[in-house]
Amino acid sequence: MYKANRNFSDVSESYLFSTIARRVDAYKAAHPGADIIRLGIGDVTRPVCQAAVDALKAAADAQASADTFTGYGPEQGHRFLIDAIIAGDYTPRGIDVDPAEVFVSDGAKSDIGNIGDILSTDNVVAITDPVYPVYLDTNIMAGRRVVMLDCLEANDFKPSLPAGQTPDVIYLCYPNNPTGTSLTHGELKVWVDYALANGCLILFDSAYEAYITRDDVPHSIYEIEGARRCAIEFRSFSKTAGFTGLRCGYTVVPRDLVDAGGMRLNDMWRRRQCTKFNGASVVVQRAAAALYTSEGRRQVRADIEYYMTNARLMRQGLGEAGFKVYGGVDSPYVWAKAPVDIDSWQLFDMLLEVCNVVVTPGVGFGRCGEGYIRLTAFNTREKTIEAINRIKSLQFNNITI
Ligand code: PLP
Repeated sequence: MYKANRNFSDVSESYLFSTIARRVDAYKAAHPGADIIRLGIGDVTRPVCQAAVDALKAAADAQASADTFTGYGPEQGHRFLIDAIIAGDYTPRGIDVDPAEVFVSDGAKSDIGNIGDILSTDNVVAITDPVYPVYLDTNIMAGRRVVMLDCLEANDFKPSLPAGQTPDVIYLCYPNNPTGTSLTHGELKVWVDYALANGCLILFDSAYEAYITRDDVPHSIYEIEGARRCAIEFRSFSKTAGFTGLRCGYTVVPRDLVDAGGMRLNDMWRRRQCTKFNGASVVVQRAAAALYTSEGRRQVRADIEYYMTNARLMRQGLGEAGFKVYGGVDSPYVWAKAPVDIDSWQLFDMLLEVCNVVVTPGVGFGRCGEGYIRLTAFNTREKTIEAINRIKSLQFNNITI
């Protein structure tokens, strides 16, 4: 009789956002007229920008002609996009990245999940708590030992270097989902230096780098000296350019990354992708390349500023409502604690039932998230303002929990 992967019995039964969707659906079924505003899941509301849509259409038309039809493309991604990525995201920051180090994919989530294919299951993995659940679940599925790096109000939701056993692999996500915190150049350097001194690999998720507003916050881990020797970087067009449905992202695996036995991670990842992935859609890659044109950049910037205005309004409104508020400055996520002693799911239920506003319970991202909620800036201006006004009208003093 065949055997399934037993590690799956150690993974939480359902994905956080499926649990939330079920609870919201149950509430809607019981209250059909409820005007629900969603500030929970991190999906965008602004459509794909015109420059990308024009490129999509042109690329689709090109598929109709025998002269321009492309068929299978390179598993690693088309050179026109890889060159645009390097010229747009790395060269201006003084970072040298070789085209053979950039791997285009259908988004960061699958790359983050798949990178474990090239890493031993013996590695001890360090993950922040609270955390984007994909890092935790994929490692549990693989049977790796995971140690948590607590991120609490006391340490400004920024992890301290591991105190006990030195981990082999460290996941860092900055700007952070869910807490919205960011690391300065100096703070990230501490991690790069630690990784270099201890032979660790950093898996750096910079899916939200486009939201950075402060000058001393690095957009790429390769802005830090030595990071090419210890870090893989994941990027996504999802939250930058409304590509959550189109699907496109990329991963940088420097050639300098060599494991304890001399194996080159870049060669291994290429081998892995050639075997298990047939490349992102060429049409979508054309759309992604259009984001790097001057018109594309201008349109993307406008969308990000729109969301960041929402984030500012949320920070301000929640502050006025008595919440302690974090994040929302270099990130579209706001992390908040109510002015009363209430746990995350109670607060989730209260906001759903009293305000008809959906948030994400902080504890869903890990035990250190207990007592907090995460709100996203991705809704429309009108709905964001309406949601915040509803939350502001909550009279916490009169509520018995
Ligand atoms: N990394 C982080 C931190 C995210 O929050 C998300 C999506 O929410 C992703 C990666 C996944 O991005 P993609 O849509 O490119 O798969």
